[in-house]
Amino acid sequence: MATIIDGKALAARIRGEVAAGVRELKAAQGLTPGLAVVLVGDDPASQVYVRSKAKETVAAGMRSFEHKLPVTTIESELLELIGHLNRDDDVHGILVQLPLPRHIDTRKVIEAIEPEKDVDGFHPVNVGRLSAGDKALVPCTPLGSVMLAKTVRPSLAGLEAVIVGRSSIVGKPAAQLLLAEDCTVTVAHSKTRDLPAVCRRADLLVAAVGRPEMIRGDWIKPGAVVIDVGINRLPAADGKGRLVGDVAFDEARQVAGAITPVPGGVGPMTIACLLRNTLQAATLRAALDRDAMDLS
Ligand code: NAP
Repeated sequence: MATIIDGKALAARIRGEVAAGVRELKAAQGLTPGLAVVLVGDDPASQVYVRSKAKETVAAGMRSFEHKLPVTTIESELLELIGHLNRDDDVHGILVQLPLPRHIDTRKVIEAIEPEKDVDGFHPVNVGRLSAGDKALVPCTPLGSVMLAKTVRPSLAGLEAVIVGRSSIVGKPAAQLLLAEDCTVTVAHSKTRDLPAVCRRADLLVAAVGRPEMIRGDWIKPGAVVIDVGINRLPAADGKGRLVGDVAFDEARQVAGAITPVPGGVGPMTIACLLRNTLQAATLRAALDRDAMDLS
């Protein structure tokens, strides 16, 4: 039976480390990191995410700035708000909750965020820095996924890693991170031929597909580390639905060496990594201010 990788426990540890880092930054520099979260419209799932992001931000000792805009907001109004947040010295991280309403160009909005405040790591400058192997703000979900894998395999060097899914928010950045960890990386997608055979090669399998329980037990190499990013809601008798991942958990745990559950695996890591990125952005800002003072 596979070891169950506890995402809740690691996320709690990271939140504790971030809170300690925030206290240090306050004491040493008198600086309190601030995270601005922008929500356009009234999508219920997005509202839940934004609320928990704000709650966790405050719990870590940081300032939270929430901007809730009506669904009728036009692109230029949103861009104006982002310009204002870019210039606000109390704001170290800016996150625009996706998806945006269809009449707003998401790409334009992401590109308007100052790369040094782009705590989601979606700005092309951060995407480029990550792929060049330079210091970058890294997308939270893939960052959390790699951290979880390292709890059971502290060195990933030389492992055959297969990522199923090539989205810009999970699959592609996960590939860059695993390459930086010296894995041999394959990125599979909907056009991949014989996906089960490709998955069976993996010492480390990352599933980011968005298809409930698509990856079966017999697709998994015995002893592999399986990181399930998928969050899918299936109908259940209680009417609330049941959350499952992209991996058939009960089958996979019989074969894998270690596996993340859904819920309680990658999910809690995303907000923890967001807080970590906000602290990183604030620390960088403080260092720049210090250097500027040293020069003057
Ligand atoms: P996405 O943008 O829809 O991308 C899905 C990827 O899976 C695409 O690259 C697609 O291939 C590939 N795919 C779809 N069907 C496939 C198939 N039958 N065989 C092989 N590949 C297939 O999804 P995403 O945003 O990356 O999210 C993926 C999952 O992670 C979702 O369940 C989402 O809810 C979850 N998620 C969780 C968190 C978290 O905090 N834990 C955060 C983000 C996302 P093509 O490119 O060829 O279309």
